[in-house]
Amino acid sequence: MIPAAYAVLNIDAAQHNLQQVRRYAPHAKIMAVIKANGYGHGLLRIAQALKPVDAFAVARADEGIRLRKAGIKTPITVLEGFTCHEELNELLLYQLDAVVHSFCQLEILAERPECHELAIWLKLDTGMNRLGFKASEYKAVFEQLQQCAIIKCPINLMTHLANADAKEDQTTATQINLFTDTINNLQLADPSQNQRSIANSAGILAWPSAITDWVRPGVMLYGISPFAESTGAQLNLKPIMSLHSRLIAVKHLSQGDKVGYAGTWICPKDTTLGVIAIGYGDGYPRYAKAGTPVLVNGQRVPLIGRVSMDMITVDLGSQPDAKAGDPVTLWGEDLAVEEIALCADTIPYTLVCGITQRVQIVEKSVLQANH
Ligand SMILES: *Cc1c(COP(=O)(O)O)cnc(C)c1O
Repeated sequence: MIPAAYAVLNIDAAQHNLQQVRRYAPHAKIMAVIKANGYGHGLLRIAQALKPVDAFAVARADEGIRLRKAGIKTPITVLEGFTCHEELNELLLYQLDAVVHSFCQLEILAERPECHELAIWLKLDTGMNRLGFKASEYKAVFEQLQQCAIIKCPINLMTHLANADAKEDQTTATQINLFTDTINNLQLADPSQNQRSIANSAGILAWPSAITDWVRPGVMLYGISPFAESTGAQLNLKPIMSLHSRLIAVKHLSQGDKVGYAGTWICPKDTTLGVIAIGYGDGYPRYAKAGTPVLVNGQRVPLIGRVSMDMITVDLGSQPDAKAGDPVTLWGEDLAVEEIALCADTIPYTLVCGITQRVQIVEKSVLQANH
């Protein structure tokens, strides 16, 4: 039996979304970003669904190791690299590529006896001020790494965009220019040898000049828009995840009745209230505001009152005949996760990443086969 709260994954949509990446970046190689458990969709499931791609990216070594242990042979880049010799040993053992972004890593690399074993992406900080070397440091670091025994040459070159989802913000153009200038300054003998990578999903969709040898799409592969002002569907992407539950109680309330913790909702008139088995314990956002849409029997009704751990409440004034057991959709194909994110003052990334263990994941094809 499927529990009350479950997520349906339309795995076929992954290939469609990958196709869209190829449409925007036809000549680029694709490093599919599947960190954080495949943005909450399941690391291995997504890795299988996205084949073939040129590489995967994960944040941490342990994610890459899980992929290798499951038999994935595709190149994998670890975006946070390594912080100690032991972690570097793991990268070598499992043939994981590393992002090199800090002087601490240079010290570790310099102490290694291995020969040409580690493929790296050397990260330039073009203004995000998170990981990466400054432009003024980049050339010296590049030259040092070329002399470093363990490094497999040619060294790949990357940066990360801080605000590519803001199409009017020229920060992105500044970042792209700084990356290009800094690489030109390396005076490479054959610049085509050193692969470059700049663009995340927003870069791919909004900044053609960010599309270089490799692109690094994440959120768009899951059918989600990186932009606050559009949904994945409007970008011709297909959401993979939909989140469902059911009504577990229906009751009648009078004008003035208070609903939920702290009684934040006071009924403006007599109405029918629905209680749904989903809450922040499932990953439904605690800060979803009153009025956040929920589909009950496929029809929109507004959330009212506070989100609890296991339940939410909705105003069923427009559906007085709804009853316990009726189906509910919290987000998915018919209710954009981007819209829910806006109602909860967050971004859709946090919603799909935040689905908890209690939510049973079912693949759509399996669901269809059983009906
Ligand atoms: C997460 C991440 C990406 C993918 O970002 P999206 O906005 O999900 O496309 C790309 N590059 C780096 C370095 C990242 O950390």
